[in-house]
Amino acid sequence: MNRRRLARAVAENLRALGVTEVATESEADGILDDYRAGKRNRGKELSREMVLKREAEVVERCRKCGLGLQRTHAVYGDGDEYAEILFLGEAPGAEEDRQGLPFVGRAGQLLNRLLEQVGLRRSEVYIGNLLKCRPPENRDPLPEELAACRPYLDRQIAIIKPKIIVCLGLYAAQGILNTKESMARLRNSQHNIGDIVVIPTYHTAAALRFPGYKQQIYDDLCRARDLAYG
Ligand code: SF4
Repeated sequence: MNRRRLARAVAENLRALGVTEVATESEADGILDDYRAGKRNRGKELSREMVLKREAEVVERCRKCGLGLQRTHAVYGDGDEYAEILFLGEAPGAEEDRQGLPFVGRAGQLLNRLLEQVGLRRSEVYIGNLLKCRPPENRDPLPEELAACRPYLDRQIAIIKPKIIVCLGLYAAQGILNTKESMARLRNSQHNIGDIVVIPTYHTAAALRFPGYKQQIYDDLCRARDLAYG
């Protein structure tokens, strides 16, 4: 089946499921292109806030993978659009799916406390996930889901332009660095994506189960803070 017929078949299936509005890749690409070109929107310059808001609206309607049909809310991301540090988790959990916000469950509360301990406020960082919709029962994301969702993250990073990306958890770190290395190895080596320093650390959910990880996350947050503001 050629691409056009395949797209028509997918659209018909989605309509049969009651999905009438589907975001397209080109719609999201257009937003970033306009922003980069310094184009104006209804007489106003496109601000970073406006572009991220439009991207979030596209993600909220996205059905590029099956997770789009099962979520309550997509979780695009939250925080300071001009943040020096971007925190990246794997995927939304149950509470995040309910609220449409990242890291709002118990793991998120621990992240807030650790941020405070290193002198950072949650409102001055940006928090997002590799995958924007919750996998059912918190199962591991499928490779095709990660591939479908990745362009949203790449655009998010291009818009926010963080100095540092802190990966919370092995999947986030492996996903963004395209590696299968263990967390122990990843924490002990330097990583960059272009000019951005990538710091892998443990997920705060793991630190709720194994409190020993808190000290290591704290140390990694100190390093991120020092690199971002030092
Ligand atoms: S997980 Fe990503 S690609 Fe899949 S439906 Fe959600 S936003 Fe779209």
